[in-house]
Amino acid sequence: MIKAQIPEIKDLLRRPQSIVIVPHKNPDGDAMGSTLGLYHYLKAYGHDATVIAPNDYPDFLKWLPGDDSVVIFENQAEESQALIDTADLIFTLDFNAFHRAGDMAKSLEQSDCTKIMIDHHQQPDDYAKYTYSDVRMSSTCEMVYNFIDMLGDANEITSNMATCLYVGIMTDTGSFRFPSTTSRTHEVISHLIAKGANNAQIHNNVFDTNSYSRLQLLGRAMQNLKVIPELGTAYITLSQAELDEFNFKKGDTEGFVNYGLSLKGIIFAAMFTENKQENIIKISFRSKGSFSVNQFSRSHFNGGGHDNAAGGRSEDSLEATIDKFISILPQYKEELSQALKEH
Ligand code: 5GP
Ligand code: MN
Repeated sequence: MIKAQIPEIKDLLRRPQSIVIVPHKNPDGDAMGSTLGLYHYLKAYGHDATVIAPNDYPDFLKWLPGDDSVVIFENQAEESQALIDTADLIFTLDFNAFHRAGDMAKSLEQSDCTKIMIDHHQQPDDYAKYTYSDVRMSSTCEMVYNFIDMLGDANEITSNMATCLYVGIMTDTGSFRFPSTTSRTHEVISHLIAKGANNAQIHNNVFDTNSYSRLQLLGRAMQNLKVIPELGTAYITLSQAELDEFNFKKGDTEGFVNYGLSLKGIIFAAMFTENKQENIIKISFRSKGSFSVNQFSRSHFNGGGHDNAAGGRSEDSLEATIDKFISILPQYKEELSQALKEH
């Protein structure tokens, strides 16, 4: 549907605009890659563009081109609000419901300027004048590439844009291994490398910059891994005390949940991380095949996402949350067995 609206959007972008670009709260590689990729594109056309992230993001993304221009809403509320108040256009990337922007949601809701959503999560809300939503897409970064392509500018992609977009495709596809990776994804990646994305360097910057304490925390998480073989399920817990013990920093637990899925015979993995500051348990769900963690999280843990990767939260204690999780699982015995059979 956005294709038909491209001429209108092109028209809108003909004159310099004040543009705010927003990723979801706790931005990941796809959220930061897509917003900064689009930022470089809009700047190249003379727009006054700013990426405003609802809160801070992990160090392994702090090298992205344009990183130093990002405004953090949580720390720079006044500056952020002024930018939102004077914006002609707001892009919301890698999320599709205002509440996913955390404390920034209210400001987005109150702004009546034109909004453009580019996103690949399920069940988009209806707040944007232009909605480019496609759950089959590997990543929002692949969609931003398509968006630039639809505007007729794929050949104008610079090495900064290419680097940012590469990052989100890489992180959201688990380095090009999840089923969402298509031949088109590889075509896009090929073009991004041709345009100057240094693939080896990017993998190194994101994955090979571990701190010693993060690897020690991973060790603890693996010791805490529990398996329920008859339900094809594995889960990890990390308490606040354990996070403190290993000097936890934002982003340190990224990817831990996937180790559960790497076990033979496991198609459903969860990770429960205590966050004493927000007084919640942050939950990550991952699955293989037909078992939808989006549905599971929506139904029981106030979250959602994709069929095979979703987030959620609980306001109970860590112990109570695990008890709830374990007590719910048998209801899904058939769905889990089905997914296990296919596997
Ligand atoms: P993660 O486990 O890495 O936090 O999230 C996995 C995926 O689900 C990501 O694509 C993330 O954007 C999405 N996600 C995480 N939490 C939520 C949520 O509360 N609602 C929705 N709709 N998506 C979420
Ligand atoms: Mn994404």
